Parts: sequence; C-alpha cells; structure tokens
Amino acid sequence: MAGYDYDLFVIGGGSGGVRAARVAAAMGKRVAIAEEYRFGGTCVIRGCVPKKLYVYASQFPEHFADAAGYGWTVPEASFDWPTLVANKDKEIARLEAIYKRNVEGSGGETFHSRARLVDPHSIYLVGEDRTVSVDQILIATGGRPAPHPALAGHEHCIFSNEAFDLKELPKAIMIEGGGYIAVEFANIFHGLGVDTTLVYRGKEILSRFDMDLRRSLHETMEKKGIRILCHSVSEWVRKTPEGRLNVVLSGGQTLTVDQVMLAIGRIPNTENMGLEGIGVELGKTGAIVVDDYSRTNVDNIWAIGDVTNRVQLTPVAIHEAMCFVETAFKGNPTKPDHDTIPTAVFSQPEIGTVGLSEDEAVKRFADIEIYRASFRPMRHTLSGRDEKMLMKLVVDSASRKVIGAHILGPDAGEMAQLLGIPIKAGLTKDDFDRTMAVHPTAAEELVTMYKPTYRVKNGERV
Ligand code: NDP
Repeated sequence: MAGYDYDLFVIGGGSGGVRAARVAAAMGKRVAIAEEYRFGGTCVIRGCVPKKLYVYASQFPEHFADAAGYGWTVPEASFDWPTLVANKDKEIARLEAIYKRNVEGSGGETFHSRARLVDPHSIYLVGEDRTVSVDQILIATGGRPAPHPALAGHEHCIFSNEAFDLKELPKAIMIEGGGYIAVEFANIFHGLGVDTTLVYRGKEILSRFDMDLRRSLHETMEKKGIRILCHSVSEWVRKTPEGRLNVVLSGGQTLTVDQVMLAIGRIPNTENMGLEGIGVELGKTGAIVVDDYSRTNVDNIWAIGDVTNRVQLTPVAIHEAMCFVETAFKGNPTKPDHDTIPTAVFSQPEIGTVGLSEDEAVKRFADIEIYRASFRPMRHTLSGRDEKMLMKLVVDSASRKVIGAHILGPDAGEMAQLLGIPIKAGLTKDDFDRTMAVHPTAAEELVTMYKPTYRVKNGERV
C-alpha cells in the first residue's frame, strides 16, 4: 500500500461515500474523497432533507384549520415561497459544511473535483488537473432523475432537483409517476396551495406497497383535493403563448399547468468516469454490478449506494459503506443485509412500512393472518378532520412471526422505524400481544389487535 498516494479514494461525497471515507480515515487510513458538486449528495442537497423540510412547510394550512376545533382562532395566513427556499438553503449549507468537516476532522482529504479513473490504481482529478495513485477505490456517485426522452416536449419539464428551487411557486402543476417522489411532491405542492394533478401509468399509486395503504392514501389525497389520474401517461407537453404548459394525456385529456414534474425513477451516475475503459462491469441500466460484498469485477474497485441500484435509500448506502470498511480494511468480510428494510413515504398522511405486504406474503406463505384496524386518530376528534388511520399486521400462521407491518397516518414513519426492530428480530404476534400498550397513543393499536380480521389460506380469504 505504501507505494500509493492513498489507501482509499472515494468518488462521490453523498451519504455512502462520506461515511466510508470518514470511518476509514478515522482508522488511520490515508483517505481522499472527490465530489464535483456539493458534499452531502442527493439526500442532503436535493433529496430527503429538503424534502422533509418542505413537507413540514406544506402541513401548516391543515394545522391552522385543525386549530379551530381546539379553540384557536388563527388569522388568515399567508405563505412566502422565497422565504422557505432561502431558509432551506441556509440549513442545507450548514449540513453540507458538516459533511465535509466530518471527513476532514477524521483525517481524510476532500477535493471539489470530478474524478475519472485512468487505470485501476490511478485517478485523474479534473478540477486539479493531476493524477493520484490509489490502492482501493470506492465509487459512490449516486444517481439522478431518469430523463424521459420519449415524451414530446420533455425539455419543458422539471425534475425533483429543480422543484426545490423554483423561482416562483406554480399555480398549477402536473406530476408524472406514482412512486415515492411523485406522491411526496404531490402532497407538498398541494399543501402549499398549488393546484396539483398526479398522473400515473399503473392501476394504483405506490406499486411497491401494501394495497390497503395504496388505496387509502389515494382516497385521502383525492379528498384533500389532489387530482389523481391512474392508467394514464402524458403524451406531449407544449408551451402556450401565455407561457404556461399544455399536457395531452393518453386518454386525450388536456391539462394546462405552469410546471410539469417528471418523477419516473432514478438512474445511476456512471458516465464519463472511465469505468468502461478499465473494464468495470455495468448492468443494463448503467448501474455498477457488484458482488455480495460491494466489490466490482475489478479487484480493488468497489461500489455502494444508488450507483449500484440495489435499494435506493440513504440508510442502505450508509450500511453498505460500513460493511465495505469492515470487508476492505478490517479483515472482516461483511455482506450488506438488504432484508426487511423499514421505509416511509412522507405523503400526507404518511406511510410507514416494514416487511411483506399482504400480496407478497400470500405468494410466500400458505396461511397468513391479517390484523387490521382503521380508526380516526385522536387528534382528529376535536379538529373534525375526516381522516382515518390504518394499521395492519401480516402474520405467518405457522410460525406466528409478524412478517409485515403497514401504517398510514400521522407519524407512521416514526412507527416504522421502531417496528423494524421486532420484525427484523423475528418476533411473533404473541410477543406483540404481551407488550403493554402506551395509552393514549395511536401506536397502541399495534399491540391490542388480538383477533385476526381475516386469514388467507392458499390464496383464499377465509
Ligand atoms: P420510484 O421507483 O419510487 O417510482 C417511479 C415511478 O415512475 C413508478 O410509479 C413507475 O411506475 C413510474 N414510471 C417509471 N417509468 C415510467 C415511464 N416511462 N412513464 C411513466 N411512468 C413511469 O422512483 P422515484 O423517482 O419516485 O424515486 C426514486 C427512488 O428514490 C425510490 O425508489 C426510493 O428508493 C428513493 N426515494 C425514497 C424516499 C423515501 O425514503 N421517503 C423519498 C424519495 C425517493 P410503475 O409503478 O408502474 O413502475
């Protein structure tokens, strides 16, 4: 190793890359990390963090309305989009500095530069116009919104990246897609007072989630005033003489909006990095192919996070980074564990989920029990808001293990984090039943659903 400038060179300063750089540097390794844009990556700069701040911003109108039932008179409120954007920018800049400082504080070196592989042990730093020699290389360059070249007029559309920094809030927006980003942004824009239409090609939004949650969220979003058009795609987008956008949908309907946002998945950042030149194998979508330990087909080159297109979630990238350090530097080969990952959709109401949906469980288990509760959360009693909370446990009848938990309602994301522990640990419904309720909470429902709502045996509901 001594012959190289660095023991580890990380390309990409997002959540995964920064974690690996920081931990390896703290072990005394000679580490450098290159980021061409801003340290923090998608999650901090233009993803999870600003998104959650915007979710909070968009919830205030409902809080103001709900306050009346509790005796408050709230004067007419007004909203200033530039203030939100500026405050978000300040917070993101603060976090960005922390990310960079964390690497440097651990002894790593940071470069604001694009990095290109010259050969398996040499990296060219474009911004510095010099080449460094490295022992191990970790690629953590993440991904970006999938473009939609097939859509006529796609050049008029924006993606989540731009949505955070629009000069002004549109009066009307159309969002294409039915996944995490489309659903979260539809709720954000609607909450901020934008006339919002969600256009989704499938039969129900959020295809990877439990059908009960998908339907209930869809209903609730429509009740709030979000237009959701399923079985529908946009066919072309054209500018009007007034500077608005006309979108023609597959059903022939035309929408006139101020912005069209595409949220149809994300693609890995692997172009123009010299990967093909040194023979790093890429998959069909351009993602880097890795083995169970995040190693590419080139022995000293590794990849983690969204660029590998395994599970596109920040905590997964961080976990893969920690496993990489164990494997590459601690002599303790560790496979990232992608099983039973809790996740949340910050829709309004929120979704929190862990484990198998009912449909997935039916495919894998001969006999399952479903425990389901739908109720008005206490906070909506005095507010009068007509919104139900949904909780659902999926149990394998044979082993009694809880194999899935699905929640729609306030703080569902927080609950999913905690439910991730017993479900990952393989605890049974009886363990849930013996757990004392915390009263009065919504979550107590999870330990007080004693009788199955129904069973599904060999695919038949009984
Ligand atoms: P998703 O994969 O969640 O959703 C993509 C959506 O676009 C799907 O509804 C898909 O439909 C649809 N779609 C795909 N191709 C087309 C097309 N050509 N025309 C029309 N619709 C299309 O991706 P997102 O972009 O929403 O988010 C990317 C990833 O980022 C997510 O997978 C998630 O892992 C992560 N993320 C996580 C968040 C969180 O943890 N809260 C928040 C935001 C993002 P279909 O269902 O039919 O395939």
